[in-house]
Amino acid sequence: MMITDLTKSELYIHIPFCVKKCLYCDFLSFPADEKTKERYIEALCDELLFIGSERCDKPLRSVFIGGGTPSVLPAEHMVRVMNVVKERFTLEDDAEITIECNPGTLDEEKLTAYRACGINRLSIGLQSSHESELKSLGRIHNYEDFVRSIRMAEKAGFDNINVDLMSGLPGQSASSFEETLRKVCTLSENIKHISAYSLIIEEETPFGQMYEDGRLDLPDEDADREMYHMTSRILKEYGFERYEISNYARKGYECIHNIGYWTGVEYFAAGLDAASYYGHCRYTDTPDMEEYLKDPLAGPVLIEKLDQQGLISEYMILGLRLISGVSVSEFEKRFKTGIFDVYGREIDRFISDGLLEHCEDRIKLSEKGLDLANFVMRAFI
Ligand code: SF4
Repeated sequence: MMITDLTKSELYIHIPFCVKKCLYCDFLSFPADEKTKERYIEALCDELLFIGSERCDKPLRSVFIGGGTPSVLPAEHMVRVMNVVKERFTLEDDAEITIECNPGTLDEEKLTAYRACGINRLSIGLQSSHESELKSLGRIHNYEDFVRSIRMAEKAGFDNINVDLMSGLPGQSASSFEETLRKVCTLSENIKHISAYSLIIEEETPFGQMYEDGRLDLPDEDADREMYHMTSRILKEYGFERYEISNYARKGYECIHNIGYWTGVEYFAAGLDAASYYGHCRYTDTPDMEEYLKDPLAGPVLIEKLDQQGLISEYMILGLRLISGVSVSEFEKRFKTGIFDVYGREIDRFISDGLLEHCEDRIKLSEKGLDLANFVMRAFI
């Protein structure tokens, strides 16, 4: 699973619509009327047809339909998108095809249609099992909606489900977070993956303003650390192994799409503000909806060429996010230079400080290094 296969590509499809904006969210997402959604799908399919015919010449090992909340769309829109993908791209037989969903936007018809058109993985945003915490985030659902979604998903045949959770929320305590973790772990055998992120306060959001005004009742630093440390301990009890700083999976269910991203696999992307990475360049589509709807093939509004040092630096920073770290031999094969020739000084220093470990072919963060990951990674920029 962790092996980088550069003969394959990945595809990301962005759906920017949500029922309403959560108070902490700075993603490009917003509510929209049905007409706009229809026009968007039209434009998106045109862009996918183009990418499939003119750009992507490798088989896809994964497709990720993200957002926003892709599950706000009527089922037929998603079927249409998937039909274009199947028609114009080569999908590996065991390709992982994920759709992001939110409780409160799923029903049996949508889930059955997803399964029938080839989607085989769901990523459901729960964040917390507590009503008061969900309310404080401005989420549209409660825990019962989530349980209903899981049961409907199982009935539709989904056996590979990710759940997103958050810690460090207003009003959250270590014990309420522990309760959320245990509830999710025991709810269903089909929950195979958990992403657990800490809340980040983004300036340009209502939470940013509330924080400025001193109106956010956030957990103190000790409680925050306690939640961080309990996550891997509790998830391990239920068979979820940590394989990335914030991601945990049952054996064999690590997210193929994200591993590709962390190990430098090329990816193509379609949709508003979507970013592709291939040929050592990153290409970003327009973030302006009207512009995108007018001409989805207008080409990227931003092109970033990564030079050798940029590629190396990105490879190290993303690779160290993985618990298994970076492969010394793969680094050499890819960059035609040794990892110690480029970063010998940094690696030696962090090993003697106990923050990095060198085990056989891999350089990885130690337990202590995981706590100070941002500090370590800064040295590789
Ligand atoms: S559902 Fe997700 S993408 Fe939509 S507003 Fe909330 S956090 Fe943002």
